This record gives sequence, structure tokens and C-alpha cells, in this order.
Amino acid sequence: MKTFPMSPRLAGADPATLRGWVAAGREGLCRMLRAVLRALDGGLNASHPPVASATCDQTQPVPGGLISLVGAGPGAADLLTLRALRCLQRADVIFYDRLVDPEVLAHARPGAERIYVGKAVGACDWPQERIDAVIVAAALQGKRVVRLKSGDPGIFGRATEELAAARRHGIPTEIVPGVTAASAAGAALGRALTERGETDRLVLATGTCRPGDDAPDWGAMLMPGTTLALYMGVSQAARIEANLLAAGVPDRASVEIVSHASGADQRIVTCCLGTLARTVRRQGVENPAIIVIRRPKGELSCSALHPLRRVG
Ligand code: SAH
Repeated sequence: MKTFPMSPRLAGADPATLRGWVAAGREGLCRMLRAVLRALDGGLNASHPPVASATCDQTQPVPGGLISLVGAGPGAADLLTLRALRCLQRADVIFYDRLVDPEVLAHARPGAERIYVGKAVGACDWPQERIDAVIVAAALQGKRVVRLKSGDPGIFGRATEELAAARRHGIPTEIVPGVTAASAAGAALGRALTERGETDRLVLATGTCRPGDDAPDWGAMLMPGTTLALYMGVSQAARIEANLLAAGVPDRASVEIVSHASGADQRIVTCCLGTLARTVRRQGVENPAIIVIRRPKGELSCSALHPLRRVG
């Protein structure tokens, strides 16, 4: 016999959410039913969280609201996917991030409300919980909510918190993938991120962690045969360099830094690992930037791969 690990609090909902559902009448009951079905689904297939039950492609109204986490791509508006474009054109309200280019927003439905919820690094005017709350509140009013995030929403995009907040309220969600910054950086370099026989592994990692967390062990990631693409790494250049050198990565390993990839201000700076921090400082490398470090199987030095160059 199958048993379903249903929470005694009905599909994991807290008492306030339950009261909200009941108060919302028929629509609330639909939301409650959806949450129960999702909880059952989670019980049958616990390792897979519930998937989207609606998409922004739907032409009919979405009475219970919908939250679409949409990837805006790395900057250039023509790197937006067709699906992202459709979402922008159907949205009632768009909550967008600091790195989303105004050119991308210009594609939104003219009547759509646009709300900036960007976070400057280290600032807390839009803490994550506040963003979770405002997108949920808008969806509970029956709106089609687009949460527009730079690049791909599932890569260093805090998507998990927003999906969880939506699911707690029984709101349908979907993820619309986007072109991530590392892909745009590879394109800017005119060079593949993986090269057959040289680098058969691509690691996307962050250079900055939550305050209080240990720094990532980049050295353990950059084994021979790997390309390491570091997001949010510029301010940590000295730590990254020291960690990698201590892990035995050759100081001649090739480093390519692409800032504002795909945008009008795109800039490429290259150096060897041993001069990473100095190069970032001296060249005044700005965010947003991706640091691409390659450690091919043959451990070629960066000068053997290509001469030192600076573009832009
Ligand atoms: N979800 C995004 C990443 C968000 S984290 C994505 O998939 O691309 C923010 C970091 O992404 C920035 O600090 C920077 O490291 C990187 N980034 C975003 N846009 C970029 C761009 N146009 N060029 C280079 N790096 C970029």
C-alpha cells in the first residue's frame, strides 16, 4: 500500500495561508486543491519538486495568478529567447533586477507595470524576503507576474527562494531559461568554453558567498581538463588567485575576463593566473564580469595558448 507523506498542516501550508485560502472563497479553494495535489505529487515522486502547472504562453486568463521566473539573458536584447519575449508581452507586472538591460524591458507590454527590485552588492534595500513577498502578493491578486532576472534564472539567481514562496501559497510557477553570462563571455572571446581533448569539463562557480560562509575551494574545481567560469569574482580576485596557486594550478594558466559581455561596454582583459589580482586592479576591471580560467589536460601555459592581449 502507498502512503503519502502529507503534512498534518495540509500540504505544508501554515495556518495564515489556510485562513487566506478559505477567505478567498472559490478561488482560494482552487489554490488549496492545487497545493494538496502538489503535496501528493511530491509524496509519489519526492526527489522531484512539483513542476510548472501553467505557463505564460496561456492565452486565457490565469485566475489564481502565475509567477514566471524569466531569464533576460546577459544584456543584449536580441539574446532574449522567444519564450521570454512572449512572457514580457503577456505580463501584468514585471519585477526586474539591477543587471537587466533597459533595452530588454522595452519589449514588455506597454501597459505592464515595471518594478525595480535590484540589489546592489552588500545593500539591503530589496532583501530577498521582501522580493518573495511582493511577487507572491501580486500573483495572489490574479496577476501574471514576470520575475525578470539577468542571464538564466537558475544560475546564481536566487530562484529557489522565490519558487518556494510561490509554492507555499499554491501559486503556479514556471522557469523560462536564458542565456547565461558564461555563454555570452565565451561568445565574446570567440572561443568555445570546452575544447575537445583539452577541457572536457565546464564548472560554473561563484566567487562570492553568503557572509559567514567559507570561500569556495576553487582549486578543487579546477582539475586538469577543466574550464572554470567564475561569476561575481572580480572583488575576490586576490583570494581566487591565492587559492588556485596553493592548489597547484600553474601560475601560467590562462585567464580571460569578460565584463559587460554582449553589451555596448563589453571589454576583454587577459592575463595569466599569477597576475590575476594585479591585472584586475591595474586594468580597473568592472562588474559585471566573468572570469574564465582554463586548465587544459596538457597544462599549456597561457602564453602558449595565445599572446597576452587586451581588447576594448
Ligand atoms: N543569473 C545570471 C547570473 C547572476 S549573478 C546569469 O545566468 O548570467 C551576477 C553575476 O553574473 C555578475 O556579478 C557577473 O559575474 C555575471 N554577469 C551577469 N551579466 C554579465 C555580463 N553581461 N557580462 C559578464 N558577467 C555578467
